[in-house]
Amino acid sequence: MDEELRFSYFSPTLETTLGVSPRRELGHRRWEVALNADDTAFWQAHIEHHENRRPFRNFIYPYRRVDGRICWISVSGAPIFDDHGAFRGYRGVGTDITAEQEASAQLSLTMEKLSVANAKLEERNMLFVTAIDSMSQGLCMLDDDHRMIICNRRYAQMYGLPEELTRPGTPIRDILAYRIAQGLYAGDDPDAYLSGRMTVIGCDGPVQVVDELKDGRVYQVVHSRMVCGGSFATHDDITERKRAEAKIAHMACHDALTGLPNRLLLRERLDRALDQFREGDPFAVLCLDLDNFKTVNDSMGHAAGDTLLQAVTRRLQICVHDSNTIARLGGDEFAVIQVVPGSMEGAAALARRIIEVLNAAFTIDGQQVVIGASIGIAMAAPGVEADRLLRCADLALYRAKRDGGRTFRFYEPEMKTDFNARRALEIGLRQALVAGEFELFYQPIVSLVSGKISGLEALLRWRHPTDGLLPPSKFVPVCEEIGLIGPLGEWVLRQACREVSELSDELTVAVNLSPLQFKDESIVTAVTQALSQANLDPRRLELEITESVLLLESTETIGALHRLRGIGVHISMDDFGTGYSSLSYLRRFPFDRLKIDQSFIADVATQTDARAIIGAIAGLGAKLGIETIAEGVETEAQLKALLSEGVTEVQGFLFSEPVPATRLKDVLSEAEKMAFIAA
Ligand code: C2E
Ligand code: MG
Ligand code: MG
Repeated sequence: MDEELRFSYFSPTLETTLGVSPRRELGHRRWEVALNADDTAFWQAHIEHHENRRPFRNFIYPYRRVDGRICWISVSGAPIFDDHGAFRGYRGVGTDITAEQEASAQLSLTMEKLSVANAKLEERNMLFVTAIDSMSQGLCMLDDDHRMIICNRRYAQMYGLPEELTRPGTPIRDILAYRIAQGLYAGDDPDAYLSGRMTVIGCDGPVQVVDELKDGRVYQVVHSRMVCGGSFATHDDITERKRAEAKIAHMACHDALTGLPNRLLLRERLDRALDQFREGDPFAVLCLDLDNFKTVNDSMGHAAGDTLLQAVTRRLQICVHDSNTIARLGGDEFAVIQVVPGSMEGAAALARRIIEVLNAAFTIDGQQVVIGASIGIAMAAPGVEADRLLRCADLALYRAKRDGGRTFRFYEPEMKTDFNARRALEIGLRQALVAGEFELFYQPIVSLVSGKISGLEALLRWRHPTDGLLPPSKFVPVCEEIGLIGPLGEWVLRQACREVSELSDELTVAVNLSPLQFKDESIVTAVTQALSQANLDPRRLELEITESVLLLESTETIGALHRLRGIGVHISMDDFGTGYSSLSYLRRFPFDRLKIDQSFIADVATQTDARAIIGAIAGLGAKLGIETIAEGVETEAQLKALLSEGVTEVQGFLFSEPVPATRLKDVLSEAEKMAFIAA
């Protein structure tokens, strides 16, 4: 370049390199023709060098050749001075470094791409870590040497691992050992646990194990092999699920109200006890039923009933040894498997104790409640099944109940026959009313004043399809128990009123009532309806009740009796002298008649005390204006004695047995003729 910094010479090589046409370039300033000429910032350093006449080295610039290609030139130059030190221009050497430059550009491009890829990878990695860290399960990946590749935060947290144990490369054995050392392992053989777990980790297929930690947590771990080698395990905290499962399992086999095992669990324990049962090592099954529970439940409400059952449970728990099982079978039924002490004497002692503690009054809602318990006991015998044992205990319980409750009975084989017979009886009774199998027999009542038949007592009979004619003692108590006495009693009333309405106006009819018919007011309606249906004068109807009716001591009962008496119906007290025989009953209600119980009559002719009692009752009746009937008169001697004691009426085989309605007319006309006690 000359002193004006215009190109003054190009070597031929540079000419070809740059594709310069000397015509075009010579005489121009370099920066005016080069690429990026306008970019002064780019050129500034170069220009300054030139203008300050300083040498420069390796100044690189892109140059657009005439053919349009870019070539990169590295230029180094030095100022030229003449002998007098005057600046004469520049001399420089340019090297074409396009190839290097392009290679480096390519490289940086690659580098750039690489860094983008790297950033993406980094991002992925972060996403992966975020993902596994936000898993609710613990996750741990191991390489083939059982060393940690990665684990997530949850994993570390589940086992309380310090950071150094979560680092890649940590042997899993160290982690397991740490868990044991921290006291997480609940078992008693840590070595076995460790080696067992190492085997699991080395296994091929997915293996599931459940770890119960010392603090009660339960982890479910699934170990699987990875296709790329190594293994991974997921760790799930299933404590809650296990707890819920346990709760459901508990609920399925326990009674919600008392928390006692239910029938299901009782069966299971019974099966187990029977499995372990050896001869000479007996155990007992006690079935227990509360007496009167229904009454409490009905009168005080279900909440009170529930409280009572809970109180009963507490008392039972005190009586029964921990190694025995108490179960609630439902309602007011409980059962005990008594393994300790397992003997008949032990069972009897326990039964006695339970009955005793349950007989004591309970305080429910501030009220004293007295119930009781009946117990049936069956002793396990070789080869007996659980169901059978329970059934036997149940049959014994049934017997204990039938024997009046508040007692216990051991199972005896004939109980089964009795039970079956009773079952059949109940079924038969339920059908008998509809099938018209009931009949009324009538027994004349003879007045000792007129010597004539003054009335009839209606006595119920059941013409059983196979067993023949059955007396009330065979079925009335059952009807009372199974709730059939109401409808049956109403039938008796209607039938008696109807059949007597067809007889002489002078005849009265006495109908026996069960105490249970006085449970509500419906007895008054039943009587009035029977009377009106038969169009019978109420004065011709007499109702026989026993003292037990008055035992109920309810104002409703007395009220009902008064109302019945109010419409003209007579009321008599049956079986007087037996039972409670409290004379105060006579004050509580104005009876029309006292029926002296047969047991006194049987002895009246032979025993002075019986005779004295009859005399006293007859005298009492006379004073109170109450007639007295002697029942069950069979002999002339008895009749004679009764006559002299002042009894007003008699009834018994001596005059007539109870007869069916069809035979009544004959009996009555016969009596007419005989004029029983003419003298
Ligand atoms: P009850 O009312 O004391 O009836 C008298 C019982 O003595 C009757 O027994 C009768 O057959 C029997 N008898 C009568 N004369 C003699 C005699 O000279 N010697 C002996 N040894 N017995 C005699 P039955 O018919 O078996 O009735 C028994 C009980 O059943 C009755 O005792 C009564 O309490 C009850 N009963 C009878 N019919 C009914 C009824 O329709 N409803 C209710 N709820 N109970 C009834
Ligand atoms: Mg009677
Ligand atoms: Mg009687």
